[in-house]
Parts: sequence; structure tokens; C-alpha cells
Amino acid sequence: MRVRIDLHNHSCLSPCASLEQSPSVLARLGRAAGLQVMALTDHNSALNCPAFAEAALREGLAPLYGLEACSAEEVHLVCLFPSPAAALAFSEWLRGHLEPLPYEAEKLGDEVVVDADEGVVELLDYYLGGATDLGFEELCAQVVSAGGAAIPAHVDRPMFSVSSQLGFLPPGPYAAVEAMRDPARALFGGFPVVSGSDAHYPEHIGRRATQLELDGAALEAGRRGEGGILFEALLEAVKTGRPEPYWAWSG
Ligand SMILES: [Zn+2]
Ligand SMILES: [Zn+2]
Repeated sequence: MRVRIDLHNHSCLSPCASLEQSPSVLARLGRAAGLQVMALTDHNSALNCPAFAEAALREGLAPLYGLEACSAEEVHLVCLFPSPAAALAFSEWLRGHLEPLPYEAEKLGDEVVVDADEGVVELLDYYLGGATDLGFEELCAQVVSAGGAAIPAHVDRPMFSVSSQLGFLPPGPYAAVEAMRDPARALFGGFPVVSGSDAHYPEHIGRRATQLELDGAALEAGRRGEGGILFEALLEAVKTGRPEPYWAWSG
């Protein structure tokens, strides 16, 4: 069946995102925007993924989990995992590679860990918005060896992208690349191209979804919380399900 997916979204854990952007708001508005599969990918942390799992399943959405890691060269990479546990394990490992910057919440924004009902669990006292000490190729290799999928983020954006920081897309084990607009071949290298909303505010939710052909049974499994089945089917669908980024279908 043809479904609408959105693999790049931030919550109130990201210092640059709206405090209104709780995992439950993401799930509710994602569903209202017609999404069937949605991933939470905060900057360098997966700490809101357990809340997103609960909120998404409650809404009938099929969730995936991850984070948007920042390499030493300041290239953003969407990292996806089949379960909150796998995303949290990678997130915990990544934390040891984050540059230790003095964190001023008043200036940079709060980083709030919440539960599925918007209860505050924790305010972080370290900054998630910086770079890690991991080179881009090393970072990609680590994601894949942790059982995740690596998707270079917004490859054609003039900041925090392979084009702005490296000047090209290096060979790598990518599941796909994410673009803002129909990219030049040098920037996607023949990999499948998807779009993502990169939502930081409620009004961004669903704005750049991708449509593709996904196995209906795998989608149902994802809606029941069987993320492993959904994850495998989605990676296959990105390759063979004729993904259409938003510019191809939204007119
Ligand atoms: Zn980014
Ligand atoms: Zn982002």
C-alpha cells in the first residue's frame, strides 16, 4: 500500500525546537497530517524516544526511533533504529563523543525529557546542539554496526550538510539520502532520495513527508509496536517502493 512517512522530526528535547513540541503533540499532529510512519530524531539524543513510542502507538502511528547526529565536520546524519532501546543505547554511546560545551539554557533553549503525557522527567544540563568528535564516515559506520540506518540529512542545505561541509557525498553505507529539493546526482550518488519535515514547531509537522509503497502487514506490525518488522520493511521499501519526496507528490 502507498503510505506517507516522515523520518526526521524534533521534540522539546532539541534546544532549538519549540517547547510545545512534545512527543504526544508530534504523534497527534503527525496522524492528523496523514502520516502512517513517523520517526523522532532529536539532535544527538534519543531520550524522548520512549515517550514517543507510547504516544505514537496510542495514535495508531507506526513509530521508528533515532536521533540526528552531528559529525566532527558538522554534517548532520539521521540515524534510525527499530526500537527505543536500540536508539537509547546508541544515544548513550554518542553522548561520550559530544563536545563538552558550557550550556546556557536561557540563551540556547531548554532540553526537556518528557513522558507520553507531557510530564517533565528531566531538564538536561549538557548541550545537545554541538558536534561530536566522530568523523562523518566513522559515524555512519558506527550507526550501521549498531543495527541502525544512516541517512545523510538535508544534503542540499547550505549548512550542516555533506554539500556545505564536505562539498560532496562520500561513498557510504546509506539507506537513503534526505534532500530539501530535487538534488543534483553528485549529492545523492544514486541512493534513494527521501524528504523529511525536520519539524521543530507544531506547524512544521508533515510539511515534507515522503510517499512510498510499504507492505501492509509490516505497517500493521509497526502499529502494534513491532518495530523490527517495520524497520526491515521500510528499508526495503525505500529501495524498491518508488519513494516520492514531497516535491514529487504535493504539487
Ligand atoms: Zn539538521
Ligand atoms: Zn533536524
